[in-house]
Amino acid sequence: MKIICPKCKEKAELAMDFSLVKCGSCDFEMSYGEYVKFVAHNEAKYSDILGDYTGSTEGQTAGSLDEWD
Ligand SMILES: [Zn+2]
Repeated sequence: MKIICPKCKEKAELAMDFSLVKCGSCDFEMSYGEYVKFVAHNEAKYSDILGDYTGSTEGQTAGSLDEWD
């Protein structure tokens, strides 16, 4: 199936058995397990963006936080 290449943001191909991710645009190639780690590592760099997103939704759902106690 088609996924987004974490390196060049072009279309990469994920093997049907989830064994390999391969991008034809930048020669990115690694196992799916390594790909998941790679993406998770990259997303950590944008935690401030995710923080902004969380902050914007907290204001709308502040009343529901009590349910988590
Ligand atoms: Zn690529």
